[in-house]
Amino acid sequence: MNFFDKLKEYRKTLAEIENSVYGNKQDYLEVYERNLELEKQIAARTQELNIANKRMLTLQHIWEMMNSSRPLESVLETIVNSLQGELGYLHSTILRYQKDEKGSYMSVIAEADNNVIKRVNSIIQIPMQMRRLNYFEDSFYAEALNEREIRTTKNISEALRSIIPDLPDDVFNKVMGGMQTKLLIVIPLYTRNNPFGWFCVFSSREEMADSETDFLTIFAQQIEMAITIADLFQAVREQAITDGLTGLYNRRYFEEYISKEVTRSLRQKQPFSVIGLDLDFLKKINDNYGHAYGDLAIKTVADVLKSNARSIDIAARMGGEEFNILLPGIDSKGAMAAAERIRKAIEACELDTIGHITASIGVASFPEHSDSLEEVLELTDQAMYQSKRLGRNRVTLAKPAAETSWQEVAVNTFMDILSKHNVPVESGLSEELVNKLSTINNQPEMPKEVLYTVADMLTKTYNPLHESGVVKSKVLLASSLAKRFDLPKDEIDRLKVAVLLYDIGNLMLPKEILQKAAPLTDEERKHIQEHPLIAAREILKPISYIQDIIPIVEHHHENWDGTGYPGKISKDEIPVTSQIILIVDAYFALTEQRPYRAKLSPVEALIEIKKDTGKKWSEALVQEFVTLIEHDLN
Ligand code: GH3
Ligand code: MG
Repeated sequence: MNFFDKLKEYRKTLAEIENSVYGNKQDYLEVYERNLELEKQIAARTQELNIANKRMLTLQHIWEMMNSSRPLESVLETIVNSLQGELGYLHSTILRYQKDEKGSYMSVIAEADNNVIKRVNSIIQIPMQMRRLNYFEDSFYAEALNEREIRTTKNISEALRSIIPDLPDDVFNKVMGGMQTKLLIVIPLYTRNNPFGWFCVFSSREEMADSETDFLTIFAQQIEMAITIADLFQAVREQAITDGLTGLYNRRYFEEYISKEVTRSLRQKQPFSVIGLDLDFLKKINDNYGHAYGDLAIKTVADVLKSNARSIDIAARMGGEEFNILLPGIDSKGAMAAAERIRKAIEACELDTIGHITASIGVASFPEHSDSLEEVLELTDQAMYQSKRLGRNRVTLAKPAAETSWQEVAVNTFMDILSKHNVPVESGLSEELVNKLSTINNQPEMPKEVLYTVADMLTKTYNPLHESGVVKSKVLLASSLAKRFDLPKDEIDRLKVAVLLYDIGNLMLPKEILQKAAPLTDEERKHIQEHPLIAAREILKPISYIQDIIPIVEHHHENWDGTGYPGKISKDEIPVTSQIILIVDAYFALTEQRPYRAKLSPVEALIEIKKDTGKKWSEALVQEFVTLIEHDLN
């Protein structure tokens, strides 16, 4: 091969090599470029996925929140906060559409907590949350709400300026100055087909992408669902604390609330008052017109209470026809005025078929009447019953617990027994006695004699041989004896009332037995022994304020040696006060005439009493008793 041939060949090879190298180079370039493109796509997809993921998380977060029973405002606050920052949204807020007698307006119900809003609130005096915002029918907010469509605006300044009244321009400009917002997106919110308001989003992007519209729409739907769920929770909560018939609070809520009120009252050194109210003669309304009209009367009272209560008052139906109103911060003077207003308003109602109704009211205040909640409620109740006794349709102020004398307790008990508890006293006599008692109870200085007269008259109805003045002597003797045993004053006071009451069960005994001239048969004796005690318990049990007196009455037939009744208890198990009644009663029984025997002289009676020492009564008691009587005799 010559040189040229060789050269040709060499060139050819070179070209081939060159060719192949160049070709590969092209392949490499292509791959490289393709890879670049793919990477870009992957990055974009990753970013998309990332955003989608964040949106999912946001929605999930809202969903979890909706399943809790937090108040609506707090749920919405968390929702708007979850949209903050990363998705390019600078701020979001939920506005509520509202209407009152002055027209439609908007208010901020939830607002994302961020630097923008902190800055804004530091510039404006009244925070946005507290402002009444303008609502104009031709605004783009109204448009969004009416058309149920998303609306956007780039003119954010105008959109805000139009709704915030009373904000000077310089303040407003200062507020707007710090915002980098490019677009305001407003999404209408509806719950159960009623306009609720707007979800407003401040975006850092000038335009809204299609995918963004979808996202914000779904987000708004979640808000709507949260509102509906919060409403449902609220309804359930209300059902649990309100009374079905009247819509007032129920007893449980009242009791829960008032126990917290005590703490608040002590901390703030503020009083509170309780008004207790009971409908008069509801039983008659039920009997005469039917239960539905009884219900109407109850509902009428409830409506009066609702329209007379301030927003902080708690008006509750405590049961049947019994209502309580708690007046925080109000003393007895204010509460009396409120109670009188309520009484008048009830009296003024004209009801279908029934006509007019009335209520009896009691008022007590904390800490004026007592610093114990139980006692305040008890005193309210007592004052209410006092209103009933004095003729109904009136307001009575409680007496401070410490000032209630034993005579007042006794008078009230007698009035309760005569007017409320169906004791078989001829109705003429019963009314006369109640009148007598209510007059003395209304006098500043109680004349005790009337109290004794009433007790004597009552005793005469079952014991015609009873002598006037004996009740008084019994009370005096019992209290002198109690003093010799160093009993405290309140115990002696209870004893005095017990002396007036221990025999009351006799009112229920059959007349034939009581007035029988011949000695009693065993059967009759048993009856006459045990029946009055049972009857007394039945009569006294419903009277709430004498519960600590009932045990004294119940044990006044127990004997020192345990042979008495009803408990067959002995010695120190028997209350001293019951023993005192036993011996005083025996003494007066012996010195009084009985159908079957003549009366004994005091000296003869003492001899009889001494015979039962260690059996009926203790030696100590007999000794004191004898000393006392002999002292009187000399
Ligand atoms: P007073 O003036 O002494 O309060 O007389 P009164 O008849 O209102 O009181 P009493 O306690 O003797 O009777 C109350 C009646 O109220 C008995 C009960 O059947 C009736 N009552 C309780 N709850 C309701 C209710 O929800 N609806 C109706 N219609 N009656 C009720
Ligand atoms: Mg009633």
